[in-house]
Amino acid sequence: MAVAQGHCPNCGAPIEFQVGSSLAKVCEFCRHTVVRSDRGLSHLGKVADLANVPSLIAVGDEGTLGGRPFRVMGRVQLDHGKGPWDEYYVAFDYGQSWGWLAFAQGRWFATSPVPGIATPPYDELAPDALVTLGAAGAFRVSERRSAHISSAEGELPGAFPEGFVRHYADLSGAGSAFATIDFGDNTQTVVVFLGWEFAESQLTVTALGPRSTQKVAVTSLKCPSCGGDVPALSPGRSTRLGCPYCGAISDLAEDRVIAQQERARTEPIIPIGSRGTLGGTEYLCIAMLRRGSDFEGELYAWEEFLLWSQGIGFRWLVLDPETGWSFVSPANPAELDLSQLPGSIGLGKRRFRSRNQNLASVLYVVGEVYWKCEIGETTNVADFVDGDTVLSREEAAGEVSYSLGTPETWPVVATAFNLPLAKHARAQAQKSTSGLPSVTLLLVAAAVIVFVILLANAPSGALRAASGVSGVSGVTGGTGVSGGFRGGGVFYGGK
Ligand SMILES: [Zn+2]
Ligand SMILES: [Zn+2]
Repeated sequence: MAVAQGHCPNCGAPIEFQVGSSLAKVCEFCRHTVVRSDRGLSHLGKVADLANVPSLIAVGDEGTLGGRPFRVMGRVQLDHGKGPWDEYYVAFDYGQSWGWLAFAQGRWFATSPVPGIATPPYDELAPDALVTLGAAGAFRVSERRSAHISSAEGELPGAFPEGFVRHYADLSGAGSAFATIDFGDNTQTVVVFLGWEFAESQLTVTALGPRSTQKVAVTSLKCPSCGGDVPALSPGRSTRLGCPYCGAISDLAEDRVIAQQERARTEPIIPIGSRGTLGGTEYLCIAMLRRGSDFEGELYAWEEFLLWSQGIGFRWLVLDPETGWSFVSPANPAELDLSQLPGSIGLGKRRFRSRNQNLASVLYVVGEVYWKCEIGETTNVADFVDGDTVLSREEAAGEVSYSLGTPETWPVVATAFNLPLAKHARAQAQKSTSGLPSVTLLLVAAAVIVFVILLANAPSGALRAASGVSGVSGVTGGTGVSGGFRGGGVFYGGK
């Protein structure tokens, strides 16, 4: 039953608002934004075409979240310069309350507006800042930036004029608590949204809306560069693809090639698409990244395998040719004591001491990734150690994240993924405190030469990688690991 109805002031088509919290609706026929007020309906102009952002839910779907009924009423598409993402406007409990559902950085979030919470101004909410949000307690800022609203559909809790720039901060709290502070265009009223991060297994779609019933099940991704069909490993969750056939990196929402890499010469040690059980959880290996860092003018690289499990989300297995394998999980910034930075970080009763800081760049990617990955994308990495556990802090524009890496052995990894123990010499790297053997230094030199040759033909993103790794100090990098181009691995694959 509609709470308000009328006709689109632009095209005359019938317009119905289903829930009281909806203040605007994108007309299904002419795609103008129709706004309702005491004076009736007015229109704001046409919204841009929607990008086909991969998603597991769509406007019109109904379901439950942790047992609580919801209906997806609308969505907005936002973009902060690297391509669009979706946030879904959702009515909970049959319209009794409302909130936003979003899948971002490989994680699901649900939030609802909570009135009457005071916040510091936008400018004071730098990443890592600690903020008390009323009775909800202490939260730590993980991201602060602005994004423009690029498109929308369905009902919306407010009107977003074309080009509207939304300023926001995302914060993590104790347990799975999560908050977004919405500063709007940074001139209007601030709205605090409180909620939590939830596992995908808590989300059940019980009735498909028209958009979902029209959708064809995604079983493969078509590479826009070579036309190859790449089996879809985590459909609806990945945003970029490194093609295993031709090496092109493409954006799945925009269906366009972002960068052309050389084709992978060898299969990753853990093949993309293989399944393995670690710590009782079955994972699918969906991508391999090579990342690198500069050490006194020499490029060091390591490999990161992206694992996905529907129950718990994304994890990493990292292979450092020098120190071996580690299993990396996200760490909740709200549970960290950052008062002694940059010297150390506390976590519970443990204290992790600073080991190194450097810039790490993405050198190569194959498979599916959940973020807007780019070759040459650079993050500032600081590693802190307690025994053989590494707590890493990674910072990029307006965003900071923490992860915890624990050592793993090749026999455990090989057994988990059913790989022959003797398959790859470099997979068997063990933790070692000795210096690099001279043969490795030669290989590093050879790798740097190959890297320079490749850069001569590389797209501009890779050139940024070159500048991003110069002039930094520290031996190790990335998610707590380091390593040279050992074992003959020269940039792409190796033996
Ligand atoms: Zn219309
Ligand atoms: Zn391709």
